[in-house]
Amino acid sequence: MSSLRFKVVQEAFDRKAVEVKLPAERPEVYYASAVFNRRSMFEYLPRDTYDQLIQAITEKKPISREVADEVAEGMKRWAIDHGARHYTHWFHPLTDGTAEKHDAFIEHDGKGGVIEKFTGKLLVQQEPDASSFPNGGIRNTFEARGYSAWDISSPAFIVDGTLCIPTIFISYTGESLDYKTPLLRALNAVDEAATKVARYFDPEVKHVTSFLGWEQEYFLVDEALYSARPDLLMTGRTLMGHESPKNQQLEDHYFGAIPSRVEAFMLDLEIECHRLGIPAKTRHNEVAPNQFELAPIYEETNLANDHNLLLMSLMSEVARRHNFRVLLHEKPFKGVNGSGKHNNWSLGTDRGVQLFAPGRTPEQNLQFITFIANVMKAVHTHNALLKASIMSATNAHRLGANEAPPAIISIFTGTQLANVLDRIANADDATLQDLAHRESVSMGLAQIPELLLDNTDRNRTSPFAFTGNRFEFRAIGSSANCASAMIALNAAVADQLNNFHAEVEKRLAEGMSLNNALLAEVKKILRESEAIHFDGNGYSDRWIEEAQRRGLDCETSAPKIFDAYLSNQSIEMFGRTKVFTPIELKARNEVKWEMYTKKIQIEARVLGDLALNHIVPVATRYQSMLVDNLVKLRTLFGDDEQISAQDLETIQHISEHVTAIKAEVQAMVDARKQANAIDDNERDKAIAYHDNVAPHMETIRYHIDKLELMVDNEMWPLPKYRELLFIR
Ligand code: ADP
Ligand code: MG
Repeated sequence: MSSLRFKVVQEAFDRKAVEVKLPAERPEVYYASAVFNRRSMFEYLPRDTYDQLIQAITEKKPISREVADEVAEGMKRWAIDHGARHYTHWFHPLTDGTAEKHDAFIEHDGKGGVIEKFTGKLLVQQEPDASSFPNGGIRNTFEARGYSAWDISSPAFIVDGTLCIPTIFISYTGESLDYKTPLLRALNAVDEAATKVARYFDPEVKHVTSFLGWEQEYFLVDEALYSARPDLLMTGRTLMGHESPKNQQLEDHYFGAIPSRVEAFMLDLEIECHRLGIPAKTRHNEVAPNQFELAPIYEETNLANDHNLLLMSLMSEVARRHNFRVLLHEKPFKGVNGSGKHNNWSLGTDRGVQLFAPGRTPEQNLQFITFIANVMKAVHTHNALLKASIMSATNAHRLGANEAPPAIISIFTGTQLANVLDRIANADDATLQDLAHRESVSMGLAQIPELLLDNTDRNRTSPFAFTGNRFEFRAIGSSANCASAMIALNAAVADQLNNFHAEVEKRLAEGMSLNNALLAEVKKILRESEAIHFDGNGYSDRWIEEAQRRGLDCETSAPKIFDAYLSNQSIEMFGRTKVFTPIELKARNEVKWEMYTKKIQIEARVLGDLALNHIVPVATRYQSMLVDNLVKLRTLFGDDEQISAQDLETIQHISEHVTAIKAEVQAMVDARKQANAIDDNERDKAIAYHDNVAPHMETIRYHIDKLELMVDNEMWPLPKYRELLFIR
């Protein structure tokens, strides 16, 4: 065997589980011990500072400079007591992932020494040198610098001796350069809009909160094998590799026993999560070999998203302690299920009512139907935008395959809910009148949650499913920042709820009763959004035709899918909800196209190098061994065709594949050059990469994978799928 491959496979094979140091206490003792939460605030802040901070958080108001100074002092003392030496503003730039710049607490004391100091000014606002973060030209256009500002709604925490302060990141002209700013704006918008509508049912409602429960899927690979695969190392996915004879056909991995090395990793990760206040709850194997999932208890959306981002970096770090590498890429292995990140999403009032859960009283049921109908309408109107919100170069591999949500957004409701909605949508005036009477609005809704929750194999082919008391947006990619989808969804629903409220008010002004007005408007929007409802098989070809007929967005090219952000409809919706200005939308799309191009560009370079410098030389060497052998056989046995036929055929096939690889790599390089020459239009460039560069990669891979089956196993340089995919 190629000596490197032999060495790493052996190393991975021999690896034992790393022992996990269990904390002395139970989780309830160390839970959130690394978080400056209300408990620590109460302990470290003067009483009136604490009260003012909590009030500012609850009422979403800014804090005064004096309060900021007091908070900074208390936060510093808490952080130092918990071993921190540095602090950083922690923010979410437009790349996926997080950014931080660490500063020590020290300041000169004027006597040649230092003191550990932290002021309100440093806590509240900083200017990270941000020119290296993607900004889609905003900073060039406005010659403005960016600054980060404390998000008081998300608590600070300590990781590896550094106090991390969650912040938004914006330019001096006010444009957001991150995910958190627009997310907070969208959450505000949905709070305001949903509160107005929820007050029809309970005038005491003051706020509506958006909740998010994500389910993070990921793969683990042994670090030795990982580092022997330049493609994994540099692109996060395998650009070549023939399917292993055993994959997931037996489906024996799902809920199967977790290998001990992985179990140790999961335990370690869970402890770290709990220290950081991430309520990690479930962990299990996924469908594919080496694929796993972690899900926490759901939280308020902004916090849940901070926690997901923190988890993703935590995972990589903990994995290293266990000699693993985490793959968050949506499709690391061809022919094996990819990874997603289902976003379970709901709205709830400050009065403890879940707005997507059917209630016990007729009013609650009408409220439930009202909110469901508005979600359907919003998702219908903005289906193209929602798809754009989950699209990326990496997630594109997963969508549309027969394992993941299709590249068409539709809503699954389940039969019970569908029946209720149909009844309203098709009700004549008399029936509607009748339904509006308190007694009749129950409509047998009470069984819905049980029915759905019992039915564990809910429709998995739907990208957006109602699951009893929430919606599950399943199309999100495993490496994505959930904020992207949550911004689009919450903003779209907020806008729709505002429309709904305005229409109901009109009907009320015309003298309609409240129930009548609500039901009439619900009926109208249900009829308008019928096309979004689909409970059938999302993987079938018939659905694509049907969806086209229904006028749903069926675009499959990622760079063109991004266009949905710049449609008039999206620009107006984001304007009304104050989530994005047109300038921000334009700048962000530039970043999306640029990132798309860069990802494909890097993959194409890596593949070209692997093909020409790793695979072709080995294949040629093996081929010349065969030729050598053939010549010798012929000297021994003469031109006996029976003896030489097979070798001859293999030699020929290797030749064909090698020739094809060389030609394809050349063609790919040429296509890249042409695409790179487009330097004034990021969209066109991304489209060129999608249309003209990416297809070559598929062809090159096809030929390499064929060679993998022919070339002597001992000589093959890269760890094969069967070695990468089965942790012992
Ligand atoms: P499944 O794999 O069956 O979808 P999981 O238990 O893996 O279920 O994940 C369900 C996720 O949904 C969890 O994060 C859970 O906390 C979350 N969740 C449950 N109820 C709600 C809700 N009302 N709003 C948002 N998320 C919720
Ligand atoms: Mg799920």
